[in-house]
Amino acid sequence: MLRSEILARFDSLGILPTSQRLEIAAILLEKAQHLSVEQVLTRLRAKDSTVSKATVYNSLNLFGKKGLIKECLVDPERRYYDSTTSPHHHFFNSDTGELSDIASECIEVSGLPDLPKGTQLESAELIIRVRNVAD
Ligand SMILES: [Zn+2]
Repeated sequence: MLRSEILARFDSLGILPTSQRLEIAAILLEKAQHLSVEQVLTRLRAKDSTVSKATVYNSLNLFGKKGLIKECLVDPERRYYDSTTSPHHHFFNSDTGELSDIASECIEVSGLPDLPKGTQLESAELIIRVRNVAD
């Protein structure tokens, strides 16, 4: 995504465009992908960036809250940031730690139980866990 496009999205979502936030967003929004804080940090370091881990964490958190990206919590120790914000499902490979997308129309969720009183359905997104087959 071009810097001008990122600036336009920051503007429409009410995100203050600091140079560090722009650096972080440029990495995540480069293509459809899922990255952890550590992976974003590694890519920043490869570009000789001095952005701190705390800033990366805080910025990704803010981007998630504002809807620029989507948080995908696989388990309490594995949080990924997804550049695709529309509803979709995931495969999670527990051997490689890799998340991959499944288009929402590929899975039909049926037989949902009655929702708790006073609630409405917001989304039903699945994480299907897979592991490598031994050779
Ligand atoms: Zn995804």
